[in-house]
Amino acid sequence: MQKKNMTLDEKYMKEAIKQAKKAYALDEVPIGCVIVYQDKIIGRGYNRRTTDKNTLAHAELLAIKKASKKMDDWRLEDCTMYVTLEPCQMCSGAIVQARIKRVVVGCMNPKAGCAGSILNLLEMQEFNHQAELTTGVLEEECSSMMKQFFKELREKQKKKKKQ
Ligand SMILES: [Zn+2]
Repeated sequence: MQKKNMTLDEKYMKEAIKQAKKAYALDEVPIGCVIVYQDKIIGRGYNRRTTDKNTLAHAELLAIKKASKKMDDWRLEDCTMYVTLEPCQMCSGAIVQARIKRVVVGCMNPKAGCAGSILNLLEMQEFNHQAELTTGVLEEECSSMMKQFFKELREKQKKKKKQ
């Protein structure tokens, strides 16, 4: 079999998946994010909501915080965000606020996603900024990681009940 050439989007999605695995290791829902500027990662983040007991500790917001510090600017105009799961309303809002140029999503989140599932906050013409959106990059890998996490969670909860 010929080795498949990895695209740039896949390369950075792999980095986002690496971040998601850090969340997984903390028993957090495995969501990871990286922000790329001129072919360099300038911000990384993973979901730490339960660990930090903080609604704001989503992967995307943590990555935005780091990228802004690195850029010394709240504007992330020429940056691309890679995130393993479709962003929620809070993170999609922050993406528009930070004027991120492009967002690449692994798998969709039909129950909470605001980059096309429930709403598409990233591409609303009414706002002063729209982010280009690419979905389905390494989708299989991202969604199977989520499924595995929730499967294990259900098993853990079952065991707890039995005790
Ligand atoms: Zn979020």
